Amino acid sequence: MTTKFDLIVIGGGSGGLAHAQRAAEYGAKAAVVEFAPLGGTCVNVGCVPKKIMWYAGHHAQQIQHARDFGFAVENNGHDWAAVKKNRDAYIERLNDIYDKNLNRRGVIHLQGYGKFVDAHTVEVDGDQYAAERIVIATGGYPIVPRCHGAEYGITSDGFFELPERPQKVALVGSGYISVELAGIFNALGSDVTVLVRKDGVLRNFDSMLSKELQNAMANSGLKLETGVVPHELKKTESGVRLLAEDGREFVAYDAVVWAVGRAPNTEQLNLKVAGVKMDGYGFVPVDEWQKTNVDHIFALGDVTGQAALTPVAIAAGRRLADRLYGGMQDRRLDYSMIPTVVFTHPPIGTVGLTEQEARKEYGDDVKIYESKFNPMLYTFSEEKVQTAMKLVTVGEEERIVGCHIIGDGADEMLQGFAVAIRMGATKQQFDDTVAIHPTSAEELVTMR
Ligand code: FAD
Ligand code: NDP
Repeated sequence: MTTKFDLIVIGGGSGGLAHAQRAAEYGAKAAVVEFAPLGGTCVNVGCVPKKIMWYAGHHAQQIQHARDFGFAVENNGHDWAAVKKNRDAYIERLNDIYDKNLNRRGVIHLQGYGKFVDAHTVEVDGDQYAAERIVIATGGYPIVPRCHGAEYGITSDGFFELPERPQKVALVGSGYISVELAGIFNALGSDVTVLVRKDGVLRNFDSMLSKELQNAMANSGLKLETGVVPHELKKTESGVRLLAEDGREFVAYDAVVWAVGRAPNTEQLNLKVAGVKMDGYGFVPVDEWQKTNVDHIFALGDVTGQAALTPVAIAAGRRLADRLYGGMQDRRLDYSMIPTVVFTHPPIGTVGLTEQEARKEYGDDVKIYESKFNPMLYTFSEEKVQTAMKLVTVGEEERIVGCHIIGDGADEMLQGFAVAIRMGATKQQFDDTVAIHPTSAEELVTMR
C-alpha cells in the first residue's frame, strides 16, 4: 500500500527541514525522508561543529590577549578530545531538538534512503510513499580528487572524526573549508600547510580579502604553497606524503585534508524515472521559484548548485512553503546580495560585488573606499593582526554595491551593514550615520 502525503521532502538538512516545517504550519500533510541524523551537513559536519572548533582556536588567541592585558595566564595546551566529546554531545542534543520540532508540527520522519519510483512516488527502504509535490533537498558531499592514494587523505567529514589534533597537517584546496580548517589547526598549535593549485586562496573573493588573508596566514605561521596539483598521496612510516604533478614532494603529514569543493547527492535518487533533469555536474537546476523542469518537483539548497550556505537553503525552503501553502504568490528568494562570513583567524565578512566584478559591470562608474588599521585590541601586542575594509560604490550617488571586511569582529559586523546595503544605501548615508567609538566597525562610516 502506498501512503499519501501533500508533500514529501527528500533530505532532512537545513533547507528540507525548513521547508517541511513551514509547509506543515500552513496545514500541509508533510513527510521528510532522511537516513542520517536530522539537521544535515550544517548541524552534523558543517557550520555548527566547525564554529565550535573556530571558537577553540579563538580562545587560544584570547589567552594571548589576556596576557597582554595583564593576566598571568599560560596556554598549557589544548585538549582536543575533550572539546570533541562536548561537541558531539551538543550535536546529539541538536539532532533530538530537530526530531522534536518535526513531531511538534506533525511532520512525519521517514527514516531511510529515498529514491524516486515515478514522478509522484518515493521509495524509502522498500516502502512507497506518494505526494502531490516533492522537494529535493539532498545537499552534497565533499569531493575526493581522483589521484593515486587519494584515500590516504580525509575530508571535512573526517576532520570532525579526528580523535586528536594531528601535529602536522596539509590542507588541499583554496576555498572556505581549506582556509577555515587551516586556521583552526594553526590556532590550536599544529604545523599547517595549505596547498593550492593556482596562485592563492579565496580567488573568487575580492582581491583585497585574499591578499590580506594570505598576509594574516603568513604572519601567524601558516604556510602556503601555490601551483600544487596533487598527483599522488603515499602513506609512509613518517606520515602521508603528497606528490605534485610538477614533481615537487610535500612531506610528511599526520593528516592531509581534501577541501576541493562539494558535489550534489543526486546519483542514487533515480531522478530519471521522475523526468527530473540534472546539469553536467549532477546539480538539479531550478527556476527562480525553485521549480525543476517537472512542474510539481522542486529543489533547494546545495543540491541546486546555488550559493551553498545554510541560511540560503533555509530561506529558499521557507519562501517556497510560503508561496505553495501560505498563499504568498510572489514569495521567492532573491539570490543577490547574500552576505557570507569565512571563519578564518581573523574572520572575513563580505557582501555584494567584488571590486573586480563591479569594474566589469560598471567600468569607470566604480569608486572604491578602503581602510586598513591596527585594531585597539592589539594595542599591547607584539604581533598585530590588521583589519582591512573596502566599500565598492557605483554611480554619482555612490550606491554601495559591495562591502568587504577582514579583521577581528568582521563576522558579527557584517549582518547589519548587509541590511543597509540591500536597501540601496549610498556612501553619503553611511557618512551621515554617526560612528560608534571606539570600535573597528566605525571605520565603515568614516572612510574618505
Ligand atoms: P544538507 O544540509 O546537506 O542536507 C541534506 C540532507 O539530505 C542530509 O542530511 C543527507 O543525509 C540527506 N540525504 C541526501 N540524500 C538523501 C536521500 N536519498 N534520502 C534521504 N536523505 C538524503 N554554511 C554556512 O552558512 N555557514 C557556515 O559556517 C558553513 N560552514 C560549513 C562548514 C563545512 C565543513 C561544510 C561542509 C559546510 C558548511 N556550510 C556553511 C554549508 C552548509 O552546511 C550547507 O550549505 C547547508 O547544510 C546546505 O543545506 P541543504 O539543506 O541544502 O543540505
Ligand atoms: P569551495 O568551492 O569554496 O572551494 C574549493 C576550491 O578548491 C575551488 O574553488 C578550487 O579553487 C579548489 N579546487 C577545486 N578542485 C581542486 C583540485 N582537484 N585540486 C586542488 N584544488 C582544487 O569548496 P569548499 O569545499 O571549501 O566548500 C564548499 C562550499 O561550502 C563553499 O563554497 C561554501 O558555499 C560552503 N561553506 C561555507 C562556509 C561558510 O559559510 N563559512 C564554510 C565552509 C563551506 P582554485 O580554482 O583556486 O584552485
